Amino acid sequence: MPDRGVRERARALAEELLAPQAADVEAAGAVPRSHLDALAAAGLRRADGEDALAVVEELAAGDLATAFVWIQQVGVARWLGAAVADGGDERWAAQLDDLRTGRAHAGIALQAALRPGPAAVVARPVSGDDVHGDGWVLDGEVPWVTGWGLLDAVLLTARDGEEVLFLLLDLGEVRRGGQAVGLRGELLPLAAVRASRTVELHLDGFRVGADRLVARGQHAALLAGDAAGLRPNGSLALGLVQRCVRAMRTDDRHAERSAALAEELGAVRVRLDAAGPDDLPGARAAAVDLAWRAAAALALATGSSAVIAPSLAERTVREALFLLVFGSRPAIREALLDGLLASRRA
Ligand SMILES: Cc1cc2nc3c(=O)[nH]c(=O)nc-3n(C[C@H](O)[C@H](O)[C@H](O)COP(=O)(O)OP(=O)(O)OC[C@H]3O[C@@H](n4cnc5c(N)ncnc54)[C@H](O)[C@@H]3O)c2cc1C
Repeated sequence: MPDRGVRERARALAEELLAPQAADVEAAGAVPRSHLDALAAAGLRRADGEDALAVVEELAAGDLATAFVWIQQVGVARWLGAAVADGGDERWAAQLDDLRTGRAHAGIALQAALRPGPAAVVARPVSGDDVHGDGWVLDGEVPWVTGWGLLDAVLLTARDGEEVLFLLLDLGEVRRGGQAVGLRGELLPLAAVRASRTVELHLDGFRVGADRLVARGQHAALLAGDAAGLRPNGSLALGLVQRCVRAMRTDDRHAERSAALAEELGAVRVRLDAAGPDDLPGARAAAVDLAWRAAAALALATGSSAVIAPSLAERTVREALFLLVFGSRPAIREALLDGLLASRRA
């Protein structure tokens, strides 16, 4: 049974803490650590399953950049949880507890070694004869890593042949404003969610010890399982729609439209929740399509002032652009393009 209290706590924090500061946070270019700590202190990191998705949706309604940094940890918790369940190293149980209580916050850098084709980050094993002990030397580039300088750790994938290694890197030094030898984050000039501090990560002979290995798997098997993991990012789009529903409801002229949008939102959420791997790309596309239309509707309801920055409408439209392309897959992109250009085919 979903815990209604969790969604309500997330909504209250989104409305009282995140939304009022969203424009200032964007201007400052970094989600404050105090936001992440306040959300964790309210017990939101302990939410699982449907509750965790409801939290992401409510946070995204308030401030997408904060929700985006927040959601990164969902993937880390999943891999650490699996390692603990497999009877893995006890340190991972302790690390998972740190993440659930908010003593630490973590992100992911999965795409470089998980997407189809050759690996963008290669791991070369080093043996126990090496002065630094067992482990790997990593080289390559990760195109997107969110939360750089904000988070304590990142779960990074690297490839050794067909084997994918999931390595939890300690980013404490980077968070304190320092540098890690062989690791360089190049900040990307994003048009939306720039406070997420997303970087391109360069690894140049970066050394990682064998004790940082959380899991390993075969590239082909991991790719085959990819579609099953597409549900969580859909909640970012649901949150943006939720924001538009609530903003338009405050204007009597658009109350009916807001109610109709809320109904569409409910239907899209039901589809996402029910979808298996085959329907998840279509369900994700439907959520993003709705977010794109809802953002345009909010701009229209706002009128010409929607083009003056900073404003809720212009930020929401920029964030809808981000959602169109973020976390995409060929099947999601095809479904979106087919829907957007349907009138041309008729
Ligand atoms: C602002 C921003 C921040 C991001 N932050 C992070 C982050 O912190 N951590 C992170 O891991 N990723 C992050 N991503 C990457 C994201 O998860 C997606 O990989 C990316 O948005 C897809 O980009 P693309 O469509 O350009 O495809 P590419 O990354 O160029 O991928 C090539 C092709 O392979 C497909 N593909 C990619 N991955 C898979 C897969 N696993 N299985 C099957 N097909 C696949 C793609 O759809 C595409 O067609 C971020 C992206 C953006 C835009």
